Amino acid sequence: MVGLGGGDLGLVPTMGAFHEGHLLLMRAARGANKTVCVSLFVNPLQFGAHEDLDRYPRNEERDFDLAEQSGVDIIFAPPVQEMYPRQSTTIHVPEITEIWEGSARRGHFDGVATIVAKLFNIVRPRHAYFGWKDLQQCLVVKRLAEDLNLLVELHFLETARERDGLAMSSRNAYLSSEERAKAPRLYATLVHVAEQLHRNELSPASLLREARTSLSVSGFDVQYLELVSMEDLRPTGMPKNSALIVAARLGTTRLIDNLRL
Ligand code: AMP
Repeated sequence: MVGLGGGDLGLVPTMGAFHEGHLLLMRAARGANKTVCVSLFVNPLQFGAHEDLDRYPRNEERDFDLAEQSGVDIIFAPPVQEMYPRQSTTIHVPEITEIWEGSARRGHFDGVATIVAKLFNIVRPRHAYFGWKDLQQCLVVKRLAEDLNLLVELHFLETARERDGLAMSSRNAYLSSEERAKAPRLYATLVHVAEQLHRNELSPASLLREARTSLSVSGFDVQYLELVSMEDLRPTGMPKNSALIVAARLGTTRLIDNLRL
């Protein structure tokens, strides 16, 4: 499919409030496509009733400037009413959506799959760019594209981090200064577990248990910290083709991170 620009078109789907992670995806798209489109849409369908839809950070003017500086040609920022003029048909990707983020945030991945499919159909990209920061989302989009034979090449890019290791996220803006100081422990813990797994001295189960306890002691409310298979996201005891995934609350802010092994 030929994109809007008459050559390859790369799409970077986002919800705005850009940080270096978003810009990384834009630059990757810029380097590989004739035309780059960024979508900026805070998708109500992927937020639960008690989540942060209303307070999600928004700064379109700044986002437009940053996108332009990153070489983006087209910003697609539709109003909600245009994307969802009535109750929408939705897409449900089975199995891998029913665990981790999917069980903590019911309906979240139906919202993600639906908006991604809509964006692909509207923009018709040849290439689409996503961040490993949202590892489960990457696998959901991959299944969506495979199962529905979507004509798009998917690209997954490494997580952009602050100097202290904290994964960049629009939601980091919610952290108090005390929480922000603690937040890097999440990734530091994953790195520590990965090192120990490679040393192979203790069982993965006891390493994970220890890591959960140490995060709890530091003030994190750990929702999950697991070693999972990159195939189906099920817990595994094997560090091969797997990832450490974590979700934890610090105060009212829910943070997720992961480390592929
Ligand atoms: P969002 O605006 O949070 O929906 O994110 C838009 C895209 O940027 C998604 O594909 C995310 O996975 C990706 N992303 C978010 N944070 C990061 C990060 N720190 N590094 C790389 N990509 C990211």
